[in-house]
Amino acid sequence: MSEAFNPRRLRLGRDLRGHFLQELAARVGVSSRSVRAWENGTATPSDAHVTRLAEVLAVPRAFLSAVEPPCVPPVLFQSRGRLATGQRNMAMAAGVTARLLDDWITSRAERSVPDLPDLSTLAPEEAAASLRETWSIGDNPVPPLVPLLESHGVRVYSLGHPVTAVDAYSFHADNVPFILVNTATSRLRRRACECHELGHLVLHNTARDSDMRTKEMEADVFAASFLMPEEPFLQGAPSTHTIDAIDEARRTWGVTATAYLRRLRDLEAIPEWRYRDLSAASRLRDESTDPALAGDPDKSPFLERWLASTRDGIPGREAAAACLRVHLPDLDAITFASSGPMVA
Ligand SMILES: [Zn+2]
Repeated sequence: MSEAFNPRRLRLGRDLRGHFLQELAARVGVSSRSVRAWENGTATPSDAHVTRLAEVLAVPRAFLSAVEPPCVPPVLFQSRGRLATGQRNMAMAAGVTARLLDDWITSRAERSVPDLPDLSTLAPEEAAASLRETWSIGDNPVPPLVPLLESHGVRVYSLGHPVTAVDAYSFHADNVPFILVNTATSRLRRRACECHELGHLVLHNTARDSDMRTKEMEADVFAASFLMPEEPFLQGAPSTHTIDAIDEARRTWGVTATAYLRRLRDLEAIPEWRYRDLSAASRLRDESTDPALAGDPDKSPFLERWLASTRDGIPGREAAAACLRVHLPDLDAITFASSGPMVA
């Protein structure tokens, strides 16, 4: 029995590619009205059109007749500038795909139960200190973040390199926290993005009455306090603010020079003029030569292990792609397996 065409899968496929309705219609060779009707479910494409849609969207035919895709709740994107609709749709589609994959894996694997505390009644600095204590990080630098997050049940997936304009976003779905992160950014920047999203997850889980800008600010403060807790940060800060001293100190905490200097300034531990001078120093802005960036891509150890292992003679990666009804590159895109070109 062949499965029925599912209108919501067509929309998911279109979002996955960031296509506009008109664009998809032109490529398939039909009117925009037809595609709209297929997506609304008021008309059903012919067999030949389903085949053509699958070709144009680069998905297996079965993708268009699979189960209803799950929802991703409204999110706050960490992005550079204003986000184009195509980029937004691609980012959200990555989240839907991640949820599908995650459900499938969870029904087959032992996984950490999510145990993120709800810290929405605390100020961001207090929330960061509280989480550091709960997670026994003490006064130390935060260890590699993805394994740490995963050990607390946070699902971390990648956005795939066509999504260039979004750094990260996060959401709770059925009480499971998700973070999607752009792997084409530098490792230190990604670490900061992940902490920012962690801030959203613990601070903004409940519907609290604050606007978007406030939430963004709170997540930034959380990330800075979580990565660089005030007391040990100030104790370890160099007494002379030379480029070399700043560079060494910021490596200790695993943060960019920009983030380190900003923290020094916010805690009033550096004169404003010196902060400005150092912020402009090109050597401190150059992360491409940072040895900390090499060799440790900070990806999901859980996904890597799971997808590499074989069950019933089938490699996990292939079984997962078959379950999602996508081609392998689309699975790789959300599982840190294809990072695309590195950009700073
Ligand atoms: Zn945010």
